Amino acid sequence: MPTHVRSTQRDVVVIGGGPAGMAAALAASQCGAQVTLVDERSALGGQVYKQFNPAFQVTDETGQGAQYRRGRDMIAAVLASAVEVLTDTVVWGIWGREVFVCRGEEEVHRIEALTIIIAAGAYDRPVPFPGWTLPGVITAGGGQSLAKVFRVAPGHRILMAGSGPLSLSFAAELKHYGANVIMLTEACRRPTVAAIWRLLWASPGNAASLRDGLAYLTALKTHRIPVRWSTIVSRAEGRDRVERAVIANVDERWHVIPGSEDVLDVDAICLGYGLCPSNELTRLCGCAHNYDEQHGGWVPWRDEWMRSSVPGVLVAGDCAGISGAATAVDEGYVAGLAAAVDTTHLSVARATALAERARRKLRRQRRFRAALDAMYPVGTGLYDLADESTVICRCEEVTLGEIRTALRQCPPDAHGVKAFTRAGMGFCQGRVCGRQVAAEVAAASGLPIGAVSPSSVRPPVKPLPIAAVAAEMPERRRPIVSLEP
Ligand SMILES: Cc1cc2nc3c(=O)[nH]c(=O)nc-3n(C[C@H](O)[C@H](O)[C@H](O)COP(=O)(O)OP(=O)(O)OC[C@H]3O[C@@H](n4cnc5c(N)ncnc54)[C@H](O)[C@@H]3O)c2cc1C
Repeated sequence: MPTHVRSTQRDVVVIGGGPAGMAAALAASQCGAQVTLVDERSALGGQVYKQFNPAFQVTDETGQGAQYRRGRDMIAAVLASAVEVLTDTVVWGIWGREVFVCRGEEEVHRIEALTIIIAAGAYDRPVPFPGWTLPGVITAGGGQSLAKVFRVAPGHRILMAGSGPLSLSFAAELKHYGANVIMLTEACRRPTVAAIWRLLWASPGNAASLRDGLAYLTALKTHRIPVRWSTIVSRAEGRDRVERAVIANVDERWHVIPGSEDVLDVDAICLGYGLCPSNELTRLCGCAHNYDEQHGGWVPWRDEWMRSSVPGVLVAGDCAGISGAATAVDEGYVAGLAAAVDTTHLSVARATALAERARRKLRRQRRFRAALDAMYPVGTGLYDLADESTVICRCEEVTLGEIRTALRQCPPDAHGVKAFTRAGMGFCQGRVCGRQVAAEVAAASGLPIGAVSPSSVRPPVKPLPIAAVAAEMPERRRPIVSLEP
């Protein structure tokens, strides 16, 4: 058992081995900075570039698509570079410029960095409704991982429910891996001609994204998967696992239209209502955030170099607002250059010249993203699906009714709800329930959801073995529990 914390010093620590983190690490390292790249998973790639489980051998690389090949090449470039890669390593706390990681069961390590780049990605937007905790109701990303990494279909009759291009891609991808997707429900209205024109206008420089979208639509048509627009899952039913999905028509803001319900026999529901930024570390560092529902909630403020409001902390990729893999790569590259400038390995003039192409691409991608956002606006009806008996905090099993009761007794804020009910104190630290709690606080206090501060973030931001915490509490500068015999 460790009784002290090993410590190293690096120019740059990059947190997250997805497209943004890998691009950042490569850029900074190529400029001569000493870089450590940390990821909690066992392999690099993040979400979209994740490769097959090593138990599988790829026999037809062309059949795996461009994303697979882009990821494979980028991972190979990082592994061949001077970047120190720490996989199976979770970042659980940051104090100033000190990054605390835990590797394996109890190996705690402190890395003192001149610059920290946070590229922690995103996670599926949780959408509570009655029955959403039944086995068989999973996030689309979970379903995608099952199919993509382990070649396991989430069920035999799968309903894909959600909104936006990702849910389209998930449905097409599941079908590609041989799963039986019986229907795709899309909460938004069918795109208008004006919205399609706007997207086409923004398409120069984004041909690959447009091509991908068309390929997904074609795949759904070819496999005769019906798409039902302006429709949402309002309830999942079943005894020991999901057996039926109740779907309903919704209005423009995604509020269920009473009397429009239909019932489908299913054994899996994959929920893909977009993503939320993994912002625990940026919030822990004290970075300034803005609320942006379309980009997944609280997103950190950044300048054109991806610097946050906290000196020495840069943020790139989906954890700074959901923008997709191509944007993540370019943002990561710019952040890597900025880190090289900040650690005196690159001049500002050279960095500006090097960043120009990526910046141009980012401007085009943002135009395209704005057109997509206008096509798929997120509706607040998502927060109205749960009933009083629906479990909202799955870790601590707190229902909506209990949260509402607490809100009648405590100050109307997320901290009060947390203290009264324990919602947000469990394994996921509020990643699943936080938004619904914020929506309830907003409703109780008559504020927009963006005006409700999220509950505070404290280390450890991710679960870690008790021995690792007992070994050292960094803020106390000494072990709180001596593990010496
Ligand atoms: C479930 C899901 C499915 C998606 N599917 C698609 C798809 O099919 N097609 C598509 O184009 N886009 C998809 N996306 C979007 C795409 O993944 C992102 O746009 C892109 O991966 C963003 O890259 P990133 O580097 O910002 O984050 P990511 O690729 O998510 O990488 C972030 C990395 O940070 C690591 N990390 C986070 N916190 C810590 C920590 N505390 N300590 C250590 N490591 C940490 C994570 O393990 C992860 O590997 C999906 C996203 C999600 C969440």
